[in-house]
Amino acid sequence: MATMIPFFEQVNLNFDKAAQFTKHSDGLLQQIKICNSVYHMTFPIKKDDGTIETIHAWRAEHSHHKLPTKGGIRYSTLVNEDEVMALAALMTYKCAIVDVPFGGAKGGVQIDRKQYSPSELERITRRYTYELIQKNFIGPGIDVPAPDFGTGEREMAWILDTYKTMTPEKLDVAACVTGKPIAEEGVHGRQEATGQGVYFGLQEVCRSAEDMKSLGLQPGLAGQSIAVQGFGNVGYHAAKFLQEGGALIVGIAEQTGAIHNPKGLDVEKVFSHRNETGSILNFPGAITLQNPADVLELECDILIPAALENQITHENADRIKAKIIAEAANGPTTFEANESLSKRGVMIIPDTYLNAGGVTVSYFEWLRNLSHVRFGRLGKRFEESVHTNMLKVIEKITGKELTQAEMQQLAHGPDEVDLVNSGLEDTMIVAYNQIRETQKQNREEIDLRTAAFINAINIIATSYMELGIFP
Ligand code: NAD
Repeated sequence: MATMIPFFEQVNLNFDKAAQFTKHSDGLLQQIKICNSVYHMTFPIKKDDGTIETIHAWRAEHSHHKLPTKGGIRYSTLVNEDEVMALAALMTYKCAIVDVPFGGAKGGVQIDRKQYSPSELERITRRYTYELIQKNFIGPGIDVPAPDFGTGEREMAWILDTYKTMTPEKLDVAACVTGKPIAEEGVHGRQEATGQGVYFGLQEVCRSAEDMKSLGLQPGLAGQSIAVQGFGNVGYHAAKFLQEGGALIVGIAEQTGAIHNPKGLDVEKVFSHRNETGSILNFPGAITLQNPADVLELECDILIPAALENQITHENADRIKAKIIAEAANGPTTFEANESLSKRGVMIIPDTYLNAGGVTVSYFEWLRNLSHVRFGRLGKRFEESVHTNMLKVIEKITGKELTQAEMQQLAHGPDEVDLVNSGLEDTMIVAYNQIRETQKQNREEIDLRTAAFINAINIIATSYMELGIFP
């Protein structure tokens, strides 16, 4: 097996490929590309049986051109310095692409979370947060973590509580981390945001009849067959929203195996089956694939890698049958595989755009935390009364009366989740059209990833040039 190019180097290869299409100086490009700060920490934790274990963990802040920096925290045995730097860099470009005013960061703890009890995981999370506080690597205006592979709301609540305990005088503590439970100042819609963003992004991509025709596909999501690798936060929500949008989910993979049904899998039923049996395997009516990687090679229109990086490589790229690869995970396609698939005419919707729903709604959560008020709290009832009055005038003019149910549906003021989803949908539509526009300006000779990188580089370069270099 050929050795894999390190992940951060792969991100930089994509950067260099796009940088050729910009006019910035080498010095500026180098500053944008480099990872500004990396903190590698080791700390002991006491296990439930009284033994002591040394934990390795990192936080990388890739770019400080905007503050705070922002990025998830990953719990995985594969975490290392190269990985967090690569993921932090992707965060920088992602934030620029979807117009979220943050620099990129990423954290990682090198553990297999399944090997630890909840109380051990709590001790690890709290100690990790303590280390970040000690070195000034966390804070509402400094660096704001979020969930990623292997972490979720529970870990974010522990981070908040630790930060709050250590900095009791601060008013804006809740904004030190996003992806929190609703009761701990989280925002409605954050948990499903990345999957929801994948849905909005794919909907926008598939809207163009012309683009779909050149791939040999029908426009729209309805009827598209989709295989999903990873059934965690991102994979599950993406599959759920896509199925609700009319797509056919023909394959789902987890770490332990994959299931396949060309006639379609009911996503909610697969979810319940996993809750009941502990695994997606042996789902009634589905064929079980023992090797989870086989899901990548299924006959389908759209393939959604939603697990980890380096899944689509030069080794399996030729066997991929999908016409669209929708990168819900970070870095799932290697640089080499991207080149060969693009040459073959496969459309790759890049991670830097497609999975940006998470950071977009994290931005909304951060804003909510700084303003100390739920979105829609002030305006909802006012909007409802304006709509009701308007409908009453229409009733009077037309002489027709609406039912109470119709009145309620039409007059309804927005809840927080409606506003969050509206902001997310707009973000995904605007960003995709900006990327597509850059592709058109370059006579369709570049792929979507390169176009997205060009947009990111130009935005970050402008920021550096306007701010100047300190001191
Ligand atoms: P998660 O921990 O909730 O779920 C990960 C899933 O991947 C699990 O179902 C696991 O079984 C599966 N998996 C792991 N290894 C696999 C393998 N070899 N084959 C098949 N399945 C495998 O993680 P998540 O939050 O859903 O993150 C998934 C990806 O999405 C990561 O690349 C992450 O960086 C990216 N991402 C996550 C968010 C977020 O908000 N959580 C935001 C942007 C990007």
